[in-house]
Amino acid sequence: MKYDIIFMGGGQAGVFGAYEAIKLNPKAKILVLDKGKMLKQRVCPKEKLGYCVKCPTCAIIYGVSGAGAFSDSKFNMDYRVGGDVHTVVGKNLVNETINYVVDIYKEFGFSEKPTGLVYNVKMEEIKKRCIENGVQLVDTPTMHLGTDGSRELYGRLLETLLEKGVEFITERTLENFVIENGRVNGVKVKYKNQEEIYSSENIVVAIGRSGAKQLKDICMEQEIKFENGAIDVGVRVEVPDIIMKDINENFYEAKMIYYTPIYKDKMRTFCSNPSGFIAAEKHDDDVILANGHSYKDKKSTNTNLALLCTKTFTYPFNQPFEYATSIAKMTSMLTGGKLMVQSYGDLKAGQRSTDQTLSRLNVVPTTDDYVAGDIALACPKRILDNIMQFIEVHDKITPGFASSDLLLYFPEIKFRSTRIEIDKNMETSVKGLYAAGDGSGYGSGLNIAAVMGILAVRSILKK
Ligand SMILES: Cc1cc2nc3c(=O)[nH]c(=O)nc-3n(C[C@H](O)[C@H](O)[C@H](O)COP(=O)(O)OP(=O)(O)OC[C@H]3O[C@@H](n4cnc5c(N)ncnc54)[C@H](O)[C@@H]3O)c2cc1C
Repeated sequence: MKYDIIFMGGGQAGVFGAYEAIKLNPKAKILVLDKGKMLKQRVCPKEKLGYCVKCPTCAIIYGVSGAGAFSDSKFNMDYRVGGDVHTVVGKNLVNETINYVVDIYKEFGFSEKPTGLVYNVKMEEIKKRCIENGVQLVDTPTMHLGTDGSRELYGRLLETLLEKGVEFITERTLENFVIENGRVNGVKVKYKNQEEIYSSENIVVAIGRSGAKQLKDICMEQEIKFENGAIDVGVRVEVPDIIMKDINENFYEAKMIYYTPIYKDKMRTFCSNPSGFIAAEKHDDDVILANGHSYKDKKSTNTNLALLCTKTFTYPFNQPFEYATSIAKMTSMLTGGKLMVQSYGDLKAGQRSTDQTLSRLNVVPTTDDYVAGDIALACPKRILDNIMQFIEVHDKITPGFASSDLLLYFPEIKFRSTRIEIDKNMETSVKGLYAAGDGSGYGSGLNIAAVMGILAVRSILKK
């Protein structure tokens, strides 16, 4: 059967794209292919066992609804956060489409008020301290669904898509695109060692960060135009809630950007989870990355957030993805396939953390997927210096942040090192092949992934 549109990847971009397609043309034949399972079947054994058993296809990362399904789901309502597709289509269109996505969230049950719209005295104080210390505070209104809340909402959205005839075929891993004379005709996928081909002249590839490396390899092989982008390498820190109280209660999340004094590199805070939990994401056997989430009902007494260093490499180096992967592999070699954790006190003292040094702290880790160690053995000096300088400046805005009770989980890496060349329609240099979401190199959040999926569909259906 030939489909009107195939979404390769059923994450945030794919699901919202499919929703738009069926809304604009209820008769359209829409197929969503995904490496993982349907949302309901995405069960992580760790929830029962309490530890990661390293499944061949990680249910947290892969599967319909994408990385977003198990994320804390803070939805930023502004083009400045979550990616930079506005550099291609303009700020107004991105903001208009974000508002359109917000309406879809509301249609499927989100009813809470966004945070960050009006400043109170505490927020003004925090902003003032940012200004005094050379930190930019990117204050955008945010909706917060929570990990459990988002799963319910996506569940309802998927039911509607199924009722309206959208087809989902899961456990299919992208192999390649069928391209003839510069035009896409279909997609090859692998299912249990067999190859299958699905045909369409409109394919939206949206395989997220988890698929970014494979997409780069396909781009090279098929001569789909792309350029090397930046990588984000850093730590996820965990600190008692009481230290972050002012920020958590007033902003929920304060997005800060800081250019470090020595290297002038960009550091930023990312994905803060008040009363949240650390998550170890398994991308490959030897690539285990730190992340975090928070639930609406289940609470810890710690806040976790990422401190990320954005690094763009200059000529002749052209393997940022491999560089970041090597850092993760080296850490995994030191820990035997777990995250590495160190207290800030131990890091400053130049000594490795041990279970014993960690047991003397006020903060109790919210995960067991770690080995206490010395991050300086695995993290390049420039990045580690940047992280430490950022922690020190954060302490001036949030007193107590740079204490020994700050736990650093290493590494947290955001793979978006390939920027696929796209036009205003999200179309790549291959006719009929569209790129959306994190995997395109233009997205890093739920908002922009949904926007890109929707914009791709609108231009396809206009044709
Ligand atoms: C723990 C965590 C917390 C996060 N918290 C937030 C947050 O609070 N706010 C926010 O805005 N963003 C957050 N993010 C980021 C957000 O989830 C992503 O930006 C968003 O999901 C990107 O959407 P996407 O459609 O591009 O990719 P994804 O949602 O990752 O979907 C990609 C899809 O492609 C599939 N796939 C991958 N490789 C292949 C392949 N080779 N073949 C076939 N299918 C494949 C996957 O199974 C997946 O379904 C978080 C991410 C994580 C991991």
